[in-house]
Amino acid sequence: MPEQGSLSHHTPDIENLLVLNPKTSQFANCVPSKTTKHEKKHWKRNHDKSCHRAESKFKNFDDIKHTTLSERGALKEAARCLKCADAPCQKSCPTQLDIKAFISSISTKNYYGAAKAILSDNPLGLTCGMVCPTSDLCVGGCNLYASEEGPINIGGLQQFATEVFKAMNIPQTLTPAVEQNSNQPSYTEPKIALIGCGPASISCASFLARLGYKNLTIYERQDYVGGLSSAEIPQYRLPYDVVDFELTLMKDLGVTVETGRSLSTDDLTVMKLKGEGTDAIFLGLGHPEPKIIPAFEGLTQEQGFFTSKDFLPVVSSASKPGMCACKSNSLALPKLHGRVIVLGAGDTAFDCATSALRCGAKRVFVVFRKGFTNIRAVPEEMDLAREEKCEFLPFLAPKEVILKDGRIAAVDFVRTEQDDDGKWIEDEEQTTKVKADFVISAFGSGLYDEKVIQAMQPLKLTDWGTPVVDHTNMSTSEPGVFCGGDVAGVAETTVESVNDGKVAAWHMHVYLQALRGNRVPSSVPSLPKFHTPIDDVDVSVTLCGLRFENPFGLASAPPTTTSAMIRRAFEQGWGFALTKTFSLNKDVPTNVSPRIVRGTTSGEVYGPGQGAFLNIELISEKTQEYWIQSITELKKDFPNKILIASIMAPFIEEDWKTLAKLSEEAGADALELNLSCPHGMGERGMGLACGQDPFLVKNICAWIRSVVKIPFFAKLTPNVTDIVEIAKAAKEGGADGVTATNTVSGLMGLNASGSPWPAVGKEKRTTYGG
Ligand SMILES: Cc1cc2nc3c(=O)[nH]c(=O)nc-3n(C[C@H](O)[C@H](O)[C@H](O)COP(=O)(O)OP(=O)(O)OC[C@H]3O[C@@H](n4cnc5c(N)ncnc54)[C@H](O)[C@@H]3O)c2cc1C
Ligand code: SF4
Repeated sequence: MPEQGSLSHHTPDIENLLVLNPKTSQFANCVPSKTTKHEKKHWKRNHDKSCHRAESKFKNFDDIKHTTLSERGALKEAARCLKCADAPCQKSCPTQLDIKAFISSISTKNYYGAAKAILSDNPLGLTCGMVCPTSDLCVGGCNLYASEEGPINIGGLQQFATEVFKAMNIPQTLTPAVEQNSNQPSYTEPKIALIGCGPASISCASFLARLGYKNLTIYERQDYVGGLSSAEIPQYRLPYDVVDFELTLMKDLGVTVETGRSLSTDDLTVMKLKGEGTDAIFLGLGHPEPKIIPAFEGLTQEQGFFTSKDFLPVVSSASKPGMCACKSNSLALPKLHGRVIVLGAGDTAFDCATSALRCGAKRVFVVFRKGFTNIRAVPEEMDLAREEKCEFLPFLAPKEVILKDGRIAAVDFVRTEQDDDGKWIEDEEQTTKVKADFVISAFGSGLYDEKVIQAMQPLKLTDWGTPVVDHTNMSTSEPGVFCGGDVAGVAETTVESVNDGKVAAWHMHVYLQALRGNRVPSSVPSLPKFHTPIDDVDVSVTLCGLRFENPFGLASAPPTTTSAMIRRAFEQGWGFALTKTFSLNKDVPTNVSPRIVRGTTSGEVYGPGQGAFLNIELISEKTQEYWIQSITELKKDFPNKILIASIMAPFIEEDWKTLAKLSEEAGADALELNLSCPHGMGERGMGLACGQDPFLVKNICAWIRSVVKIPFFAKLTPNVTDIVEIAKAAKEGGADGVTATNTVSGLMGLNASGSPWPAVGKEKRTTYGG
């Protein structure tokens, strides 16, 4: 305790604060293990390893996904992406989503751009960001899998961007090109029916609507929509408002949904629909009925037996706000207690297990036939159940259910084993009994309802009663009838179902147009992208009589080193470009390498977080003929883009006039006079050697004014005492404007040895850069 009145001590309140600061201690720390073992319980954020019970999840439907990201988390994660040239992530995504493009947009906080990229390829992009088993899809291909930080959380980033867009509350609209076309009879007349309102149909209808079709109806037998996303995937993994959001985007384009309508001999059949003039049908029925094995036949819910298809839809209706038509979620959760056995090891089984805990189960056993090494579920699905302390019992097949007083009391199992040929056998000699109050079977599902199977006539069916499908175009044996999603035989996940719907939409379009005599080249799908009123905002700018379609352009610099680079920029949507500065052939320099280095303030950051660059790049090393021909070619192919020729010459009237006239004749919209390059050109009486003197600037501008009609701008150097004087001189000379500014001169770095960096040529020379 400091002495009262001591000047060299802080007051006690300040001392109390400062005591928390890191200090160098004089001695090694010495605390008994018993004390730390006890104390650490106060500090732990994770569960203590001796804690065998998870906290109760009863009626707790909060998000449990590990992948959900905050904005801070998303920006950090996006900054890690390497933007690999081969993009293995994209190739592993069933919808071929342009992952590096949307991650790049997130890293520059362009969240709309990210959502647009996602929803363009996947109209259920938010659902998929939440539920895709990514370790087996996009994330499985991430090159960072091998790094210590692990692969990119692609699902989480996708969820983040689309959730930001969802909050913007912006409708989907048609692209202007489709809007123009869509009043033609070939888009207004075709009647299209989609059966089942799950991911496959929602995707198919969204793409058909984006193509311009007007008469699209989805028939859904339930009184809710969304298929398994609504009915079976639980709220804590996929809330209902996500389904609602994606459905609303689809309805924005005019798709209608009729609930309470079934494909069945009692209601709609393929033949009836065709007879009523339906031109194309998409079957997206999913697998609506559960598989039941003989050991469970005849058991009822009152006795304690559920299939996943009896259990999960009730859990969803009772726990998903907004799903029930009356919006009150008045349905009660199934009432469970004691011990629950869940049979199966797919995503459905784990959802049943974690849902059972929320319905009152005290202990949940997930029992499956195979071992952990050949289980079907991906690790992230299993991990959620393990974290909630569900127990796993492998290598067991159910044989008999033991009832006591009319209720389930236990299940007898036999052990399964794999023989030397890999075949699974049940060994009746090894049996075990597991006591239970409830059994939920999650063995998968299929299409077994005879009325539905009959309603699909005359389609050719497989041995399982599902349509025979050509998986290259999702067509069935009947012209005009297409099929996708779980019922089509390849898709097992939401994203694969979405992709089936997308592929089917394209081939339905080809079919429908052919019916009306219009040939669409089917091998080159051109599905319109996601579009909203944001894309229609007019951001054009008019300057000196020139209309720039948007204010984003490339300055005269390394990005316009070649005209092929300018072409790529125009194709990607940039509004204008300035050529790399060129000169008459007699003044063409030789460029050297390296010309650009990362600024020393950039730290370890790569990509968009870069602090600075330094360059010592000279003007173009390409000939005047190269640039003059390039200007003509580019203006011919991109008449609406603004192309400005950047030119440079010494203080010689004839040289400036020749360059200006050549550029105007080639088709340049405007000129920029480079009076400011600081690297090396000054020594040759060019660049900033001209731009630092008002007299020279005024004269050069006057020469140009006398020979061209197009606007021109003087590009000024900031490396002067008073730039205003130079700008005034440009104006007096007749310039239409000035470009402020060229590079600020700077010194490059020095290596520890005292040698300059960057250094070029054999003699390792350097110069001022900027
Ligand atoms: C519990 C569970 C969890 C899952 N978890 C995941 C996951 O985490 N990630 C993932 O990617 N995938 C998951 N899946 C799989 C995914 O949900 C499906 O692959 C996807 O929903 C299939 O889409 P679909 O459109 O083909 O069919 P469905 O989603 O089944 O939709 C079919 C629709 O058709 C309707 N219908 C059926 N018969 C008729 C009829 N006769 N007439 C009219 N309408 C009819 C149904 O009511 C339903 O609305 C899960 C599945 C389950 C059951
Ligand atoms: S849709 Fe699914 S598989 Fe495709 S990138 Fe997104 S999370 Fe990955």
